[in-house]
Amino acid sequence: METEPALLELRPTCENCNKELPADSLEARICTYECTFCAPCVDNVLENVCPNCGGGFVPRPVRPSINWNGDNFLGHDPASTTIKHRPIDPALHGRFAPSYDDEDVETIPADACVLAIGQRADLDFLQPADGVALTPGGGVRVDPETLATSAPGVFAGGDVAFGPRNLIEAVANGKRAARSIHSFLSREAAEIESHLEIEKIATSRYRMIAGFEVLDREAPPTLDLARRTGISEVETGYGEDEARRQAARCLVCHVQTIYDPEKCVLCSRCVDVCPEFCLSLVPIEDLDLPEEERRHLAERAEAFGEVPLSAMVKDDERCIRCGLCALRCPTDAMTMERFSITERFAAAASGRSDR
Ligand SMILES: Cc1cc2nc3c(=O)[nH]c(=O)nc-3n(C[C@H](O)[C@H](O)[C@H](O)COP(=O)(O)OP(=O)(O)OC[C@H]3O[C@@H](n4cnc5c(N)ncnc54)[C@H](O)[C@@H]3O)c2cc1C
Ligand code: SF4
Ligand code: SF4
Repeated sequence: METEPALLELRPTCENCNKELPADSLEARICTYECTFCAPCVDNVLENVCPNCGGGFVPRPVRPSINWNGDNFLGHDPASTTIKHRPIDPALHGRFAPSYDDEDVETIPADACVLAIGQRADLDFLQPADGVALTPGGGVRVDPETLATSAPGVFAGGDVAFGPRNLIEAVANGKRAARSIHSFLSREAAEIESHLEIEKIATSRYRMIAGFEVLDREAPPTLDLARRTGISEVETGYGEDEARRQAARCLVCHVQTIYDPEKCVLCSRCVDVCPEFCLSLVPIEDLDLPEEERRHLAERAEAFGEVPLSAMVKDDERCIRCGLCALRCPTDAMTMERFSITERFAAAASGRSDR
């Protein structure tokens, strides 16, 4: 008998503060057991540690509200209405003091045992007179926007402020703190200048590496278990061939399909050729549109002699940028374009800007 796959339970509220988290909320965070909290509680209260399983959080995916494909949408699989409100005790959470039952012991035979322990910052050097407030978990308390601590002129980021995370976030924190330090010292708000470049790639030139879509992820080679001692590096790195294969799997998400409805002749070739079923040409009546927009479109259609209206719908999350839709399009209505965004930190007073 075929069983329905278990669905992600979209819970309606934050378990800690009971804030509403509708199905399309970009603030909802979940752990692997679907415990649901809001982003501020995860960042400021839980320090990215789930109080129920001890794991980390990720943003909750948004389930489509429109039936793009196979009844996989909110109308068929609605969000849960069961509220779980179990406010946590921040002091208890910060201590992370699990208790064990000595009677409940299991022996597992093994060749080697690798001890993976947590780590925490040693902040003994901070004195009360420094005025740097700490979190219940023993980290430095910061304003998540500016990374300012409670002591004027002292900023912190990375693991010491947010608990164990990753290098990318630590580097991003460094940049954010640098901006805040600039604002603090110069007493003027730091400005970000964004520069967007769009390049239309000639369809005749656009190619992905042959077979990229069927290449599997290969785990990097690792050191023998017995040799993993001290600070020896465990992953020894890909050889050139493997590295090239893995790089070929990149889905170049800075390249996008661009659709020009004025050139489209509704031939549906792009829809037919797409290997990922991203594209659909649908009658406008099938779209869930605000009434005013629908009226506006109907008026435009009337101006062209009441032609039936269609819409090109694309699921961008499935697109692998193979470019087949652009290649197949007879009128150049579907093209591939590359987007590059450069952000510069501009010092407002002097007009100087640094990347
Ligand atoms: C075993 C392990 C594997 C990991 N693997 C990955 C991975 O594959 N990818 C990934 O993205 N992240 C990984 N991480 C996480 C990543 O290393 C951290 O998130 C990141 O290094 C945090 O950067 P940070 O600058 O906040 O802190 P740190 O890199 O810890 O830097 C803090 C620095 O401050 C120094 N310091 C401490 N106290 C004092 C003091 N009193 N005075 C002066 N200096 C002091 C320390 O010596 C250290 O150099 C791993 C972490 C661990 C522990
Ligand atoms: S680029 Fe490829 S996957 Fe993306 S819409 Fe076009 S045909 Fe589909
Ligand atoms: S192949 Fe080109 S003209 Fe045909 S439906 Fe797709 S975008 Fe329109």
